[in-house]
Amino acid sequence: MTSPKKDYYELLGVEKGASEADIKKAFRRLAMKHHPDRNPDDKGAEAKFKEINEAYDALSDPKKRQAYDQFGHAGVDSSQMGGGGFHGFHQGAGSAGFGEAFGDIFGDLFGAGGRSGGGRAQPERGSDLRFRMTLTLEEAVHGITRVISVPTLASCKTCNGLGAKPGTSKTTCTTCKGQGAVRMQQGFFSVQQACPSCQGSGQMIKDPCKSCYGQGRVQETKQLSVKIPAGVDNGDRIRLSGEGEAGGHGASAGDLYVEVVVKEHSLFQRDGADLHCQVPVSFVMACLGGEIEIPTLTGHVKLKIPGETQSGKSLRVRGHGIKPLRGGAMGDLLCHVTIETPVHLTSEQKAHLEAFDKALHDGKKHSPKAAGWFEGMKKFFEGTK
Ligand SMILES: [Zn+2]
Ligand SMILES: [Zn+2]
Repeated sequence: MTSPKKDYYELLGVEKGASEADIKKAFRRLAMKHHPDRNPDDKGAEAKFKEINEAYDALSDPKKRQAYDQFGHAGVDSSQMGGGGFHGFHQGAGSAGFGEAFGDIFGDLFGAGGRSGGGRAQPERGSDLRFRMTLTLEEAVHGITRVISVPTLASCKTCNGLGAKPGTSKTTCTTCKGQGAVRMQQGFFSVQQACPSCQGSGQMIKDPCKSCYGQGRVQETKQLSVKIPAGVDNGDRIRLSGEGEAGGHGASAGDLYVEVVVKEHSLFQRDGADLHCQVPVSFVMACLGGEIEIPTLTGHVKLKIPGETQSGKSLRVRGHGIKPLRGGAMGDLLCHVTIETPVHLTSEQKAHLEAFDKALHDGKKHSPKAAGWFEGMKKFFEGTK
């Protein structure tokens, strides 16, 4: 780049304070006009195209634009295109904004994924697969190894995924002569397009493999043994590298993601490393205290109920929660007490309770909650007067 650089705003024909949208619009208009594919024999157009590409690259990036406004070309040169060669469109170098701005115009002509229209297409990596595995809470907490059946595309064993009949090999595509691309007339200008005969690979299979019809891949249901580590939770994903779909024509396979779905448990609810459960306690035990046996995910444990326990109280059993998958302390089991009202009482039992009630004399002293509640209610009515 020997000649002094032109002003970026001038190049795009916009005012210095132009909005991003105006810059984008101006760039599109100029890029369409000077695109090398529309001016195949005009070296000047290519140079011009490069210049406006560079200008847009600087002005479409707010940081670069600020640096350019402040320091001129010196402000953006360090991140520029280096000096030689035609960068931009096909390589996409140094102009991330380019493909974005052109996605809607050229996207359909250059094929999905913004692949270059020129070079040969690489065989495509296989797709990733997702498998939802439903586990019980116990399985998630303790881990499990399970065999799953995954419908997938597997590499063809007859041709080792190459698509050519064993003993034969691929030949150079005659349509594109191995280039992978052909020139096509698209409206008023010509563009390069992936070769329709070889899908851009530049090669053809003369004798296709009989097992896979030249595709290199076959539909198959794969049996896989999947080890689920202890402590997984809802939504956790386990990646099995290379167990996704086989790649096309010998390319690498995708990955398989096993997504964990944990079923609801009849007794326990999980919250991170902790487990929660409801524990019904008789009204007498709630008064006097005592000990009951409660289930855990691994067996049973004794739970001490302190005397005068109120309904809704949470009792913590340390270390009977879940060991988190990603490390950290073992969680706890939180038991939420529900006081049970006795049912189907005989008249004798009722008489006992009545006698007991009389024996309490002063309701306030023995009913901490009710006392507080009556106080609150009194205040509430006084406040509304
Ligand atoms: Zn095959
Ligand atoms: Zn071809």
